[in-house]
Amino acid sequence: MSRISLGLVKALRSQSLQARSTWQLRQDALPALLQTRRFFGWSSNSGDDGKKGDVPESTGTSESSTDERQSGRKSKRTSAAAQEGAIVPVKQDGHLRKDSSGFEPVCMALPLFGRPLFPWHNQLIQITSPKIAKEILSLTENSKKMTHIGFFLRKSMPNELPKEGEEEDLLPSAKLEDMSGEDPMEVLHNVGTIGRVAQAVPVWSPKDGEVVAVQMLVQGAGVVRLEKVLNKGPPLQVQIAQITPEEWDGKDEMVRATMNETILTVQEIMKVSSSFREHAQYVNQSLQQRNARVQPDAVAHLAASLTTAEGAELQQVLDATNPLDKLRLALELLKKELEVAKLQQKISNQIEEKMSKNQREFMLREQLKSIKKELGIDKDDGSETILQKFKERLEGKEVPKEAKEAIDTEFEKFANLAKESQEYQMTRNYLDWLSSMPWSVYSKDTFDLKKAREILDRDHYGLADIKDRIREFIAVGVLRGSMQGKILCFVGPPGVGKTSIGKSIAEALGREFYRFSVGGLYDVAEIKGHRRTYVGAMPGKIIQCLKKVQTSNPLVLIDEVDKIGRGHHGDPSSALLELLDPSQNSAFMDHYLDVAVDCSNILFVCTANVLDTIPGPLLDRMEVIRLTGYDLQEKMKIAEQYLVPNAMVEVGLKQKKAEAQSEVQVQKVAEEVEKSEDAKPQEPEPEPEVKAEPKQLKPEVKAEIETGAIESLIRWYCREAGVRNLQKHIERICRKLATKVVEKWEDKSQGTSSKDTDATGDAIDPSKSEVIELRVDEASLSEYVGKPVFTSDRLYEGQLPSGTVTGLAWTAMGGSVLYIEATALARRRSDPDKPATAPPMLAVTGQLGNVMKESSQIALLVARRQLQARGKDGFFEEHELFLHCPEGATPKDGPSAGVTMTTALLSLAMKKPIPTDLAMTGEVSLNGKVLAVGGIKEKTIAARRAGCKTLIFPEANRRDFDELPKYLQDGLNDLVAPSPSEFHLHFAFDRGLLIEG
Ligand code: ADP
Repeated sequence: MSRISLGLVKALRSQSLQARSTWQLRQDALPALLQTRRFFGWSSNSGDDGKKGDVPESTGTSESSTDERQSGRKSKRTSAAAQEGAIVPVKQDGHLRKDSSGFEPVCMALPLFGRPLFPWHNQLIQITSPKIAKEILSLTENSKKMTHIGFFLRKSMPNELPKEGEEEDLLPSAKLEDMSGEDPMEVLHNVGTIGRVAQAVPVWSPKDGEVVAVQMLVQGAGVVRLEKVLNKGPPLQVQIAQITPEEWDGKDEMVRATMNETILTVQEIMKVSSSFREHAQYVNQSLQQRNARVQPDAVAHLAASLTTAEGAELQQVLDATNPLDKLRLALELLKKELEVAKLQQKISNQIEEKMSKNQREFMLREQLKSIKKELGIDKDDGSETILQKFKERLEGKEVPKEAKEAIDTEFEKFANLAKESQEYQMTRNYLDWLSSMPWSVYSKDTFDLKKAREILDRDHYGLADIKDRIREFIAVGVLRGSMQGKILCFVGPPGVGKTSIGKSIAEALGREFYRFSVGGLYDVAEIKGHRRTYVGAMPGKIIQCLKKVQTSNPLVLIDEVDKIGRGHHGDPSSALLELLDPSQNSAFMDHYLDVAVDCSNILFVCTANVLDTIPGPLLDRMEVIRLTGYDLQEKMKIAEQYLVPNAMVEVGLKQKKAEAQSEVQVQKVAEEVEKSEDAKPQEPEPEPEVKAEPKQLKPEVKAEIETGAIESLIRWYCREAGVRNLQKHIERICRKLATKVVEKWEDKSQGTSSKDTDATGDAIDPSKSEVIELRVDEASLSEYVGKPVFTSDRLYEGQLPSGTVTGLAWTAMGGSVLYIEATALARRRSDPDKPATAPPMLAVTGQLGNVMKESSQIALLVARRQLQARGKDGFFEEHELFLHCPEGATPKDGPSAGVTMTTALLSLAMKKPIPTDLAMTGEVSLNGKVLAVGGIKEKTIAARRAGCKTLIFPEANRRDFDELPKYLQDGLNDLVAPSPSEFHLHFAFDRGLLIEG
C-alpha cells in the first residue's frame, strides 16, 4: 500500500475516537487482503482449518502430538475446570512457555475504545501513537511469524480527553493508547481477544517522513484473559492466558435450538438490511462452514460481531463462558438488530414509496399509452401536446388550491379520453378556459395624481367636478394602497363622455380596460356563464374579460346598467349584484368555470342614462357621479379642441402631434445627412431610407372648419346633450373634405386646370400650387351635412294664444322646450240660465304618461281654486277642456309640467296670453305648492336656445340655478325687472314660490 499522507491523519482528528480505532473492515478491502494472507481461523497457519475448536487448545506441552491433543481434549470435556473456561498455566518467572500451537503468553496489549474484537472477526485498527506504531511495524517486519497483539476493551473513557495540540502532531487517541499513566488491570476489561496482525500499513508525516501512525488489519483469533501487566510501556506488555471454550457434546438441544435460531435470525436480517447483508455475507459463509461442526461459541461471536450493539453488551458476549449463555446473549443482540433493521427498512420504504410514486405514475402512463396505441384506441392525437400547452400556460401562475385541484383532476381525465368522445372536446374547452385565466396575475397600479390629471385633461374638456372626483378617488387609492370595493357609476345623457372617461381612468391607473354592455340583457348566463353540460356552453362576460385582459385587476366598464332586463332565464341584475358586491365577489362563482374566482380587485365602473331604472340594491352599492349635458359653449370648445382635430387626424388631413414631430425629426436627419455629405464629398454614403418621399408627392393641405360653422352645426344639427352626434357630423364633414382634397390633388397631378374653383368657392391658389386650402364656413355647411335638422326652436312665432305656455322638459337626451296647449269649448246646457254644476271635463292628449295625466288633474284643481280666489268662477265648469302637448308621437312623462299646465289653464280661463319669451317648469302639489325638479342646466340651455328670456323655476331649485355657469345666467331677465306678464306676477307672488330668472 502506498504512503498515506498526513491529510488522512488530519481527517482522522475530526472523527470520534471510537470510529478511529474500530473501523470495520470494508467489504471492498477484503479481497485484496485475502489474497495476501489467509487470516480467517486460528489455525490457518497449520492448515487445520476445519478442526473442531478452531481456537488452538493448549495442553501445556509444546511437543504434544495430534493424538495427545485429542485425548487431552477428551479429558477436558469432563474436567470441572472446563465448566468455567480453562486457563493456560504460565510460568511465574515471566518466561513463558509456548504451547504446541504456538500460543505466546506474553504479548503487546492495546486498548480498544468502541467495541471488542471478536474471534472470527476482522477489524481495521488505527494506532496513532507514533511510538507504538513504530514498535508494531518493527515487530511485523522483523518477525517471521505473525505478530499477535492482545486487544482489550476500555471499560470507560477518561473524563477529560487529552487536549489536541498539547504535544505537536499527537492525536488525542495517541494519548489514550499510551497506558503508562493508568492501571491497565483496572481500566481495561480483563477478557479480550488475541488478534493477529494480517497487515500493517505505516502512515508517515509529510513534514519529516517519520512514522506517525499505523493502520492494521487484525484478525480475532481467540479469547484471552489479561493476567498481569509486565511493562506499562508504551507499548503495554502483558501476560495473558487463553480461555478455551467450554466443551459441548453437540447433543444439548437447547444449545442446538438457540444456535439454529441465531443463524436463522442472521439470515433474516440479511433479507431485510442490505448493508447488513453485504457485511454478513462473507462472515456467514464461514459461519455455515463452522456450523457443520456445531461450535456454539463461534456462532455466538460471529453473530455478535455482526450487530451494531454497544461495546458493553458485546463485551458480555465475549465474557460469557457457558455456550448457552453466550448464544443467548448474542441472540438477544441479534433480535434487537432485526427490529432496528425492520424499522430502518420501513422508514426507507416509506420514503422510497413517496419518491417513486411520481415515477411510477409516469411509467404507468407511458405503458397505458403504448397499450392504447397497440389496441388502436389511441392514435397519437396530440392530446399530449395540448396538455403540455395548458401546463405551460399555468407555469409561474399562483393557482388557488380549489382551482388547482379542479385542473389536476381534469388533466388526469383528459389524458385518458378518446379523441372521438364528446367529453374530450368539452374537457379540452374547459381546460382551455381554466388554464388561460390570469390566476394571481396583477398589473401594478400607478397612483399618480399628476399623470391622472394629464390623461383626463388630454381626453376630455371641462368636466371639472368629475375629474376632481376621480382624482379624489385615486388619492384614496394612494393612501389605502388599493381600490378595492369601489364601484363608480356615471349617469348622464348619451355622448357626454361616460365611456371615454372610464377608458381614461383605466389609462391613468395603468390598468387594462374591458367594456361590456348589459343593456337589454335578459339571460343570467351572460354574466354567470352556462353550466358545462350545455352544448356550446361558455363562461360569462366577466370570465371572458379576465381571459382577454390577462390580469386579475382590470377596469371593467359595464355599460347601460339602467337597461338591464329581466327574462325567464333568471334575473341578470341579481347576478350583476353578486359580481359587484364587494362582500361577495372575492369568490365569484361562474357556472361554467365552477371554481371561485377572485373579482375583488377589479375596478368596476358602470354607466347609465337614468337612475330610476337601476335596481335599488345595485344602486346602493354604487357611487353615482352625474354628468349633465353640454351647452353651446362647451360643445364649441369640445368640437374645436378635441373632435375636429381628432377627426382631421382620423381621415388623414392632419398628422398626430407625435407623428408630426417625428416627421420634423426625419427631416432634420435628412438635412444633417445632406450637410455631412457636403462636408465629406470624398465619402459618398448611401442615401438614408428615411426620405421625405410623401412630402414630394402630397401637396400641403390646409383644411379648416370655421367657428361659425361649428356653432351652426351645434345649433341647427346637433342639439343633444352629448357630443356623439356632433362628432359624427364633424367626421362626416372631414370625410367630405378628404374626398375633395384627393380629387383636387388628382386633378393637379393629371395636369388639369387647377385654376378652377369648386362648387363651394374654395379656390385653389395656382400660385401656391403645393398648398390645397379648404375651409368650411357657415354658408357651406349644408353642403357637407345636408339641410338643418332643426329650423327653429319655436313652434309659435310671435304672440302665443292664451292657454298656450312654454314649458321646459328634461329627457335623457337633454333639455327641450315643451309647449302645453289648452283650449276650451262651451258646454251645451239644457238650461242656459242655470249655472253649470257638472264637474269640469278635461281631455288630455299627446302620449302623456300616467304621472303627467295625474299632473293635469292636479293642475285643473289648482287652477280652479286660483280662479275662485280671484272671483272668476265657473269657466272650467262651463267648458269642455282640452290639454295637448305637441309632438304627439313622442311619449312624455314626468311631474315637472305641473306649473306649466296650471298656467295654461289659468291663461285660458282668464284669456290672458303668456309672453313668448317666458318658460317655466315645476311640479305642483294638490295644495298648490311648487316642488323642485331636475335638469335645471339642461332646461336653461333649451330655454335659451328657444329665445326665452324669463324663466320660472321652483324656489327649491334656486341653488341649482345659482350654480350654473355665468354665461348661462347672463342675458336672462332680472327678478326685479318689470314683469312682462301681469298674470305671471300674480301667480308668482301669490304663491311666493316662483323666481323670475
Ligand atoms: P357615453 O358613454 O356617455 O355615451 P362616450 O364616452 O362614448 O359617451 O363619448 C362619445 C364621444 O364624445 C367620445 O368620442 C368622447 O371622446 C367624446 N366626448 C365626450 N365628452 C367629451 C369631453 N368633455 N371632451 C372631449 N370629448 C368628449
